[in-house]
Amino acid sequence: MSTIYNTLDTLYSEMVELRRYFHQYPELSFKEVHTPKYIADYHRKLGHDVREHVGGRGVVATLKGGKPGKTVALRADFDALPIQEENDVPYKSKVDGVMHACGHDGHTATLLCLAKAFNSIGTQLEGTIVFIHQHAEEYQPGGAIAMIEDGCLQGVDVIFGTHLWATEETGKIMYKEGPFMAAADRFELEIIGQGGHGAQPHLTKDSIVVASQLVTNLQQLVSRRVNPLDSAVLSVGSFDARNAFNVIANKVRLVGTVRTFKEDVRELMEKELERVVRGTCLTADVDYDLKYIHGYPAVINHKVETELIRDIASKVPDVKEVSEHEAQMGGEDFSYYLQHVPGTFFFTGARNQGADRVYPHHHPRFSIDEKAMLIAAKVMATAVLSYTESKEKEVSHD
Ligand code: MN
Repeated sequence: MSTIYNTLDTLYSEMVELRRYFHQYPELSFKEVHTPKYIADYHRKLGHDVREHVGGRGVVATLKGGKPGKTVALRADFDALPIQEENDVPYKSKVDGVMHACGHDGHTATLLCLAKAFNSIGTQLEGTIVFIHQHAEEYQPGGAIAMIEDGCLQGVDVIFGTHLWATEETGKIMYKEGPFMAAADRFELEIIGQGGHGAQPHLTKDSIVVASQLVTNLQQLVSRRVNPLDSAVLSVGSFDARNAFNVIANKVRLVGTVRTFKEDVRELMEKELERVVRGTCLTADVDYDLKYIHGYPAVINHKVETELIRDIASKVPDVKEVSEHEAQMGGEDFSYYLQHVPGTFFFTGARNQGADRVYPHHHPRFSIDEKAMLIAAKVMATAVLSYTESKEKEVSHD
């Protein structure tokens, strides 16, 4: 293991350089052009088998080891967000209104240097490593589902992925078996009343009053419909009824999100939401138009692979703490890979020590501690080698 650690140590400056390069040239989900090309060229120079435009804009590179064995996939996403960067750093985003504000620049740099490190021990390597560089994680339907349909998991026995997690200290590795990140659905609702003069409510059907009742009524889904031992979130994020002060709104548009971990709770929320909307609108004698849009399913980590990460992580240099992390209400399309092959998704602490304060993911001042990339790379490398070199290749069957 020390060989690969040493190699990664020597690649650290390149990792930082790569991350800063990607940081300067961020690209939005489903609009990535230069990033996937850069990634493909990098792998090609290493002599890896490269497939471009996988599922649209993804890149899949394959490194065959010198000895036969299992196939391990590692995934990193590479898209950015529609955010104007407010960090004052030399490698600040050069693209107006677009920023790597979730650390996917770091994920990509980490995976590329891992590929280079594995390449250097290629003849010693047992089995095959598949590097899945995924486009469009930030925007539904996401890149994962299309890449899987396009065969990125063909022949893959196991998959690992990590997210640099800027709100947790560098040196921490956080794992969780089972439900880890939530299914993230969206609803768009239009209440169609009958507008009119603010002084003559009896001649109207006030869609603002109905929408307000709905915001309240919908809170009962979580508090009174979902089993208290399960969890769910329903949030109305937008209430749009722009009008003059003396006008009764004809229409109101509500947009919100529903987060769940279990498929049956997810179905319950969708069904009950429709029922409450129907009932409230019926009572007020107004029409409605409801769209419920399914987002990514929940990330459900497999047991054996999660335990593998837990067990190996503590032996990795610079890892100070390995702990179980509570489930997150955020969504991730890594979930789709885990529906097809066993594997696990874990967090790598990446809190920026030098920053005046910690800004959360998707904030205009978001940043990561770059040292976390090296830790992530070492944990991934250890996972791959432990997996490919173990004689008993136990995998999850759940
Ligand atoms: Mn992310």
